Parts: sequence; C-alpha cells; structure tokens
Amino acid sequence: MAVRVICTTLLIEKSPQALPLGAACVASAVKNAPELKGQVEVSLKAFCLEDKDFPKDKNTAYEYIAGKLLETAADAGNAIFCFSCFVWNIEVLEAAAKKLREKGFVCIAGGPEITAHPSFYKYFDYTVSGEGEVSVPLLISKILNKSEKSDKIIISQSPDLSLIHSPYLDGIIDPSEYEGALWELARGCPFKCAYCYESKGQKTVRMFPMERIKAELELFAKKKVPQVFVLDPTYNVNKKRAVELLRLIASKTPDTFYYFEARAELIDRELAREFTRIPCALQIGLQSANEETLRLVNRPFDKKKFIRGLSILNEEGVIFGLDVIYGLPGESFGSFRDGIDFAISQYPNNLEIFCLSVLPGTDLYDRADSLGLVYEKAPPYHVTKTKELTADDMKRAEKLSKSCTCFYNSGRAVPWFNSVCRVLKYKPSKLFEIFYENYSDFCNKLCSECGHENHKEIENIQLEFLREQCKIKNLQRYYAAIEDIVKFYGAISRTTDSGKSEILSLNYNAEYVASDYASDIRYFVENLRPKKCRIQTFMNKGGADFRFVK
Ligand code: SF4
Repeated sequence: MAVRVICTTLLIEKSPQALPLGAACVASAVKNAPELKGQVEVSLKAFCLEDKDFPKDKNTAYEYIAGKLLETAADAGNAIFCFSCFVWNIEVLEAAAKKLREKGFVCIAGGPEITAHPSFYKYFDYTVSGEGEVSVPLLISKILNKSEKSDKIIISQSPDLSLIHSPYLDGIIDPSEYEGALWELARGCPFKCAYCYESKGQKTVRMFPMERIKAELELFAKKKVPQVFVLDPTYNVNKKRAVELLRLIASKTPDTFYYFEARAELIDRELAREFTRIPCALQIGLQSANEETLRLVNRPFDKKKFIRGLSILNEEGVIFGLDVIYGLPGESFGSFRDGIDFAISQYPNNLEIFCLSVLPGTDLYDRADSLGLVYEKAPPYHVTKTKELTADDMKRAEKLSKSCTCFYNSGRAVPWFNSVCRVLKYKPSKLFEIFYENYSDFCNKLCSECGHENHKEIENIQLEFLREQCKIKNLQRYYAAIEDIVKFYGAISRTTDSGKSEILSLNYNAEYVASDYASDIRYFVENLRPKKCRIQTFMNKGGADFRFVK
C-alpha cells in the first residue's frame, strides 16, 4: 500500500501572497520523483490562522493541527509529514510535529526557518536545509526502503531548475483557491544584504526555463487568475529578460494584475514603458537613506540613480511602493525619520515600514553583537534596541510605521500628501507622529486588522485631523482647498476600485482641484476663488473620471 506523504504548513492569511508555495514545490517533487514511483500518495494540507475554526491560542493551535493531520493520515496507517517552516509558524508546527512523532509518524521539516539553523529544532525526525526538491524525495526513499540510513540534518544541493516540476502545472496547487498566484521566476539574488537569507548565498541567480514560465502563464490565463505576485527579488537585474517577460505577460494575461520587486537604480525609460503595458505595481527596497547604515548591511545604494529611476516611474505613470526598515545598525532616530521623509518625497503609492529581524543564518546574525544590535532570541527575532536607538526609540518607530500605514497607505494619500505637508509646514514623519498621538486607537485597530479598512471612514478621520491642524497652525484659510483635494482623490480612488459612482460637493471648481494647481495649495488658494460645485465620479475606458452634476 502506498505511504501517504502530507506536505503541510501554517499560513498567516488566505491570500495569493501567503500561498503555500514551498510546501507545494516539495509535494510536486515527491509526486514526480522516479525513486518513489508507486510507493507514495502525496497531498498538500495548508492551515491558515484565518480559518474559521482555527484556534486563536498557540497552545491549542498545535493540537488542532496535529489532530487534523492525524485524520488525514488515519486511513493510510502509515504517513510521513513534511512541514514548511517560517519564523511565524515554527513554534506551532514544531509542537504539532512532537505530538505526531509520539504517535509514531515520521516528521520532516524544511523552509527558511530550518534552513537558517537546521540543528536547532529537536522535535522533527529530519531537518532539510535549503531547497527541498531533490533532498526530500531522496530522504523519503531512504526512509521507505530502509536501504541506507539518512543523516538527521540534511544540507541540500540547489536543484537544476530546468528539471523540477511546477506545482501549478501538475495540479498540486490551484491558484483559483487563493484568488491569485505566487509566481517563481528565479531563485537566488546577485546582492548580499546582511539581514537577508541570501547574504551567505552564491550571489548567483538561477532562472526557471521559459517553457515552464509560458506554460504557467497559459494556466493563469485559463483560470483567469486576477493577481500574481512575482517571486524574483530583483526582477529587473537582467533587463533583456525583464522586457521579454513583460511582453509575454501582456500577450497571455493582459487583465491580470502583477506585483514585482525591482531595483530603482536599474529602471530606465524603455523598461518603465514596458511596465505600463500591463496592470502592475512595483515594490522597491530603500530600507534606509543613510549611506553609512546601508554600507553596514552591504546594500549598495546610488541615491542619484535611485531618484532618477523613481522619477521615470512617476513620469510614465507606473505604480510603485517603497520599503524602509527601522532598527538597522548605524541608524539614529533622526536618520530613520530622514529616510521616511526622503521616501515620501518620491511619491510612492505606499510606504511599508518594517522592524528589522536578525534572522539566524544571515550575515547580520553573525555580526549582530559587534554592531550593537539587541534582538529577540525567538521568532520573529525583532530588534529591540541598537547602539543608536533606545527601546523607546524603537517603540516610536513602530508608531510611525502604524501611522504611515493608516494615514498614507490605507488613506490613499499619495496624490495630496506632500502638498498638504508643505502647506502645514510639517515633514512627513512629523505629520505621522502627530497623527498617531491623536488617533493611536484607530491606527492600532487598523494595523491589527491588516488593512481591511473602510476608506471612507479613514478619509473622514484624515479630514477631521487636517481641519484641526489647520486650526492649530492658524491656517484655516487653506482648509477648504485641502478638503476638496482629499475628498476628490478619495472618491476617484474608490470609483477605480469598485467601479461605483459617487457624488460629492466641492468648494472649488473641480477642474482646478483635479489639475496641477492643486499640488501647490498655497498658490491654489491665493490665486483661485472658491466656487461651489457638485460632481459625479464614474468609470470610463481610461479609468475613473468625473462630470459636473446639478
Ligand atoms: S534583500 Fe533582496 S536584494 Fe538584498 S540580498 Fe535579499 S533578496 Fe537580494
């Protein structure tokens, strides 16, 4: 009788970004391994913190997972479990594995958290460090055939990407279930940022073959996959290939929305124009604007080229977001704030501000003490203080992060945020700080709900806050214009999202509110007369638009 191999993991949320790709890749490799032909029956079982019946308490969560896995294995009489482990799920999965081993089942663990320190976790029978597509089938074959004893800790070799199977193409995972896909185009990275798992890698990038990429795109088209998150940490390092893929994407899946990670310094006009041919957004790592900090974490940064790349994206109308990290070595609270101010000055669609994690297995982990980083010794390994940042500074940085998420990202403030800061004479980071001081409950609630926000509610709070700030600074004469700009762009963005019309009343002529005049609120107010009007937003072919109504 075939032995059941169950590849499992625990997801943070049910979304395409959180899709269990690692576990699916291993399942696909086991399914197709010639050495296991006829001996195994493979399945993928992913748990999710958002599942209705998933326990909230860690102590019962592992029992729940173990219980469900036992049910899946029960009729097999014999089963092997393969756990895909990340910083956020390792504790629960290890506890579940301990329980399953007590019942006599074999438990194998892999994934980034195991790769980082394969000898640390004791409650698995075997730990596999690195990519599992070759090592795990080989290990299972040894377990089943008892021909050869395997080491408990396996350091795997990177597989040849032209030989491994796609979990999408062989039906292990269905992107329709996750309303999107995580799409692997390459493995490895040419950079070695000290805080990243790639910091000790080979600095080489291995590409998946074009035939596989084309076949996966055809599948996405057939299944009408609405969104795809591209897994390639520096999509545009090889421009020729990046352009070729964008053209392929445009021809096969013109209606799918794509998310890429890219390097700003390598963006040029031609590439930016290719991005405009498909619905997409780019996420770009800035991490810090402090050159000494970036040097300490081995991150090359050419500020001039970075700004130039982002200007091209803005000029061509490509949506992009930026990432910034707090807790990096050599970064004071002042330089961290400068980083936020610099990032916002580039008009990103969103700014993600993360706490640094000192991940075991990275170069930063080895150098953490000499760099003066103090961090949690268990997942998620967040930095709690540094030589330059006190524990209080770290908390202040977290508050700025939440405020930015709420006011700027969820508040969809990009079209007007810089002009509002200018008229109020606040730096962006100062405005975030004051907003958090006044609306901490709201920011905390929104962030804990992972941005499942009601934009209209946020807009009302933004307006209430801005009205108050105008009053405090004795700048009430600008509020009518600020109100118009916030309401106008809010309605346009909601119509873009939902396709639904909205009617709104404005203090100024909507033509002016929608024009470049509005980017300088002081000039706008000093040179234009208020003229009340009512408009209706609507969708046309080119996107959301508006018309005057009575
Ligand atoms: S952080 Fe991104 S760019 Fe830096 S080494 Fe890791 S994958 Fe590469």
